[in-house]
Amino acid sequence: MTRVLVVEDEPQIVRALVINLKARKYEVDAAPDGASALQLAAARHPDVVVLDLGLPDMDGVEVIRGLRGWTRVPILVLSARHTSDEKVEALDAGADDYVTKPFGMDELLARLRAAVRRAEPVGGADGADDVVVVETEGFTVDLAAKKVNRDGRDVRLTPTEWHLLEVLVRNTGRLVSQKQLLQEVWGPSYGTETNYLRVYMAQLRRKLELDPSHPRHFITEPGMGYRFER
Ligand code: CA
Repeated sequence: MTRVLVVEDEPQIVRALVINLKARKYEVDAAPDGASALQLAAARHPDVVVLDLGLPDMDGVEVIRGLRGWTRVPILVLSARHTSDEKVEALDAGADDYVTKPFGMDELLARLRAAVRRAEPVGGADGADDVVVVETEGFTVDLAAKKVNRDGRDVRLTPTEWHLLEVLVRNTGRLVSQKQLLQEVWGPSYGTETNYLRVYMAQLRRKLELDPSHPRHFITEPGMGYRFER
């Protein structure tokens, strides 16, 4: 059973989410503010978090930061805000995806399923037995163990960061289009959310490149996509 933590202060939205999620056999906890969300998350270990950014006691971005201090649980943000800055800030803090209010329940459920799927360990069905360790001068990617090592230490990546890295590394030296990356990492209904890629590529560069502002490994092909070079 998949356990969902809904963090939202508007009772009508909570009710609609709880009814729809329970009807699809999800187990649901609900928190009306940030403080109880952080407590419930620690107590119940949800498989996915649906998080409103506008909470009465703190900014939802603070909740994301609080969660990311100890968990990689997928976080799907609900935002009434329309400026892309705030969405980027949420993604930057570690959210995996967002839905803008007012949202369609079908879209939200599809994104929720995609977020849960991304976090699930892949069963090695996709050729995980060819090249498994890719080394650069600065870091090593072990595709089988799903680990990245830099200077003798494991680098902590979120499931979304890992998935993006994995797709790029499996295509070393080849251009991977924006659309292909979005569909492989976020799901088939994606394709135009290029700001997701900008945010996550910046995070990968920050964690792995020696000089993130002059990347040698995670190369942008402007307007087309990205390429990983060893
Ligand atoms: Ca709200």
